[in-house]
Amino acid sequence: MPGILIVASALEGSMGRSSVELTGAARNLAGPLSLPMSAALVGQGRGIGQAVETLQQYGVQTVYRCEHPALTPGQSDAVLAALDLVVTKAQPELVLISADTVGREVAPRLAYRLRAALATEVMSLAVDGRAVMARRQVYGGRAIATLEVTARPAVISVKPRAFDVPQPQPVRGTVEEISLTIDPEALPTRVREAQSERAEVGLDDAQVVVGGGRGVGGPEGFKLLEELAAALGGAVGSSRPPADEGWVPITWQIGQTGKSIRPNLYVAVGISGAAQHVAGVSGSRTIVAINKDPEAPIFSLAHYGIVGDFRQVVPALVAKIKAAKGA
Ligand SMILES: Cc1cc2nc3c(=O)[nH]c(=O)nc-3n(C[C@H](O)[C@H](O)[C@H](O)COP(=O)(O)OP(=O)(O)OC[C@H]3O[C@@H](n4cnc5c(N)ncnc54)[C@H](O)[C@@H]3O)c2cc1C
Repeated sequence: MPGILIVASALEGSMGRSSVELTGAARNLAGPLSLPMSAALVGQGRGIGQAVETLQQYGVQTVYRCEHPALTPGQSDAVLAALDLVVTKAQPELVLISADTVGREVAPRLAYRLRAALATEVMSLAVDGRAVMARRQVYGGRAIATLEVTARPAVISVKPRAFDVPQPQPVRGTVEEISLTIDPEALPTRVREAQSERAEVGLDDAQVVVGGGRGVGGPEGFKLLEELAAALGGAVGSSRPPADEGWVPITWQIGQTGKSIRPNLYVAVGISGAAQHVAGVSGSRTIVAINKDPEAPIFSLAHYGIVGDFRQVVPALVAKIKAAKGA
């Protein structure tokens, strides 16, 4: 039966938070549009079985299980081959996919193959009549556009961390095995090398994130930020200039063209607060800004602000935190 198909990824051997967020995004639409929710689960490894259970915990009625050794991170061609089979079978009205590295590539290619409408990097979803109202940033984050998606089928890519993990809503679902015959040698792209983040706590799921900007001045400055993050049990991220300059890995970039995060605490250090950066952190529960310029725009967003040179402020904070923890 046509419904909403989410693309759940277990490409790294287990399913991540972004796929669970998609079940929440889909629920916003499934109720008002009276559509069932199914999932194309793509991946490999031992985590697949657990992923099926998790999807059913979050209300997915039918799981199309696509398991193959070629379904690995970065291998969009294999993912597309699997999705081709699933959409032929499921005939979905709407396909929701996370706008992560693979999803950014797969969403337009899948939409083209389905001759479907496409809305990308969506941050909120609602229903008006039969139309899906999808909000996304435009003009470099300076404005929000509301797209009225009336065509079917439609492919919608959802920005990671734009949606919270929803409350569980367990269902007794069905699982359909999709038999895949992918010849890795025949795929047009090969993944030769995969680099992982060097942060101990992953930026995506960290409850505390310390973000550094151009004001941190270089890799040495980021060492201080890593100390602060370690004291708080969190991860380090950055605005765009430190990633562009190569002071930190590109995977640390937060903002419109980087990651979106929703930690309990975000500490912005030497970051001015440009709209494109704020776009990725505005979902944080508490924001603390450390900046030597009292007029920096970040202070109008921050719940707490410290005006000062981070070279003095950060070590003082680390010492206080360690003392409070009795370390
Ligand atoms: C299409 C597009 C997409 C973009 N995407 C992104 C994105 O995803 N993420 C992103 O971050 N940016 C993005 N940008 C860039 C964005 O517009 C800003 O240029 C960028 O966010 C500025 O980074 P910053 O705040 O670190 O640097 P700056 O704006 O240069 O601010 C540095 C801050 O550090 C403070 N400072 C300096 N020295 C110290 C010190 N010793 N102690 C304390 N504070 C100090 C200064 O007062 C200043 O406020 C994008 C831009 C475009 C056009």
